[in-house]
Order: sequence, then structure tokens, then C-alpha cells
Amino acid sequence: MINQDRLIKTFCDLVKIDSPSGHEQDIAKDLTKRLAKLGFEVKLDSYGNLIASEGSESPFMLSAHMDTVEPGTGIVPKVEVESDKIISTSETILGGDCKAGITAILEALESIHEDSTPRIPVEIVFTREEELGLQGAANLDFSLIKSKEAIVFDGEGAPNEIITISPTYFSFDITIEGRAAHAGVDPENGISSIHIAAEIISKLPQGRLDHETTFNIGTIKGGNVRNSVPKDTVINGEFRSPNLETLDGLKMQIEETVNQISTKYNEANINNEIYTNFHAYKIDNNNPLATRIAAAIKAIGLKPKTKYSGGGSDANIFREKGINSVVVGMADHNMHTLSEFVTISELVSAAKLCEILIKK
Ligand SMILES: [Zn+2]
Repeated sequence: MINQDRLIKTFCDLVKIDSPSGHEQDIAKDLTKRLAKLGFEVKLDSYGNLIASEGSESPFMLSAHMDTVEPGTGIVPKVEVESDKIISTSETILGGDCKAGITAILEALESIHEDSTPRIPVEIVFTREEELGLQGAANLDFSLIKSKEAIVFDGEGAPNEIITISPTYFSFDITIEGRAAHAGVDPENGISSIHIAAEIISKLPQGRLDHETTFNIGTIKGGNVRNSVPKDTVINGEFRSPNLETLDGLKMQIEETVNQISTKYNEANINNEIYTNFHAYKIDNNNPLATRIAAAIKAIGLKPKTKYSGGGSDANIFREKGINSVVVGMADHNMHTLSEFVTISELVSAAKLCEILIKK
């Protein structure tokens, strides 16, 4: 049976292990021990993703990611049973993204193991560097993966929320090389890359563009000292939408803006690069796994809900590799912020959902 106390303990133990993106070795070690105890053969692939299998030819994948965003070191969780919440008391995120997902999977496996309940064969995949643009999943050694279907516990919100639409994600970098000059003595000879950057940014959109499209300039870095015309500036941005026409339009807008400004400042050197990080997906109503998950959600007394997520997850990569993957909520809220919290009752439901899906 799902044991709430054990579940809370597992969650708190896991968030206390620092695992910011790129530094997942300690959590991988801890999870290896836990899964080995449950009878799995646990391996790390060459990228450091954790894969636990039990030798079956057609397992069902249970997946989550091991890394957390910053500030995420020295997390001190606090359990507030009265308000049904686990919060962080340190100046950090809580790390519920995605330790809540990992906890739900571990508790389901523990519970089934303890009760000797028959279950279907499973394969556990805990990735690295999800928060760096799905790097772990992109580098996952798929030759070691046998599953054709996966449930990914990485959605924001309650476990009855099934993500059925996810966007394509483009990132872009614009680099501007102007010309340095003394700001007081010789500004006529300078070309300010910061000034050019401001002009470019003012011609680009910002924020939510329609119900499924967003655009953001996330960082701008330029200049070294106050009294010099700044030579170099770099702008990093991203945009997302499941709509290909909208995406093409935005790509064109970036390119045209850069061309136009390059013509205006022909002595500056302005370049832009646009990368596709992951592709959109839509899960239709008769997707067999989504149907099974919806039935399992009903079986634990909840009402299945479908939703659009503007975020990507490892499921975007798994689906590209032909694994029918569905993301569900994992009880985490206010992800990637200092006010992040996990709802205890929802975390219990997430574990129950995982358990019922793999019970025979
Ligand atoms: Zn996540």
C-alpha cells in the first residue's frame, strides 16, 4: 500500500541531495542503491543518465529527471501536514521538479514490492540535464532502452492533469560586434553594440503572443566598463509554439530585423543563429496510453484533465524516438521559483497512479 510517511521521507531525503543540472552524480548514486534494493539492474549510460531494467523485452517506462534548477543547493524542506504542503525553508527552490516525480515512481515500486503484488515489467529512466534543454534525454543511449511506451512524471500540478499538447522550442543567439572607443574622448569613432542591441530588441515581440505562442529575450550581455563604447553584446532568447506557421513567421521576423539593422549599421557585424531544441507533439483522444492513464486516474478517484503545456519535457525527445510518452502532473506547483511547493495529497495520488498503471 502507498505509505504517506515513507513517501514524504523519500521526497525530503531526495531534495536534500544537491543535484543542480550538470551535477547529478550524488543523486544518481542514491537512486542506484534504492533501485538495486528493489531488484533492478541499474546502469548509467555514457552521458550519466540512469537506466534501471529487469531484463524484460517489452517493459513500460517510468521516467523523471534527476536535475533541478538554481538556486537549488542546500535545500531544506519543511513538511506542513496541516496545510497539505511541503515547502523549502532555505533561499532555494524546493526541487519538487522533478524529485516529486522520482518519489512517486519509487513509492509505487516500494509499495508493490512490499505487498508482493504482481506487476508488468518496467524500465526506469532518470535523466540528467533536463533543465538545460533536455540535454540528458537528447544524449540518452537509446540502444539500452526497450520500452515502446512511457509515463513521464514531470508536469506542473496534480497527477490527473495529462499534457496533450507541447510546443516546438527554438532558441536564438544574436551577436553584435561594434567598435570600441573612449566614451569621453573619441565616441565618434565607436559603434555601440549595446545601442544596436536595444534597437533590435525593440523590434522583436515579447511575452505571450497568442494562446499557444510565447517569445522571450532571456539574457543580454554587453560592455566591460562604463567609459568605453561597448564593442560586443550578445542577446539570448527563445520562442515556442505548436503552430509551425507561427514559428516560421517568428523566425523570419528575427532574420528580417537583423538584416535591416545590419544595413543601417553596416560597419557593425551582426549575426544570428536559431536552433531547434525540441519538437512539438499533440496526443489525440484515442492514444492507447493516454486512454489507459485516463482510466487509471478515474480508478484512483480523480477526474482526468487534459492540458497544454508551454514547457518541454523529456517526452518531446522520447516521442521523437518513437516511444509513445505521456506527461502527467507530479504534485509540484510554482516550479522554478522560490515559492515552489508540493501538495502532499497530490503526491500520494501520483504514487497511486503510478502503482495502478503497473499493477497486473
Ligand atoms: Zn521538470
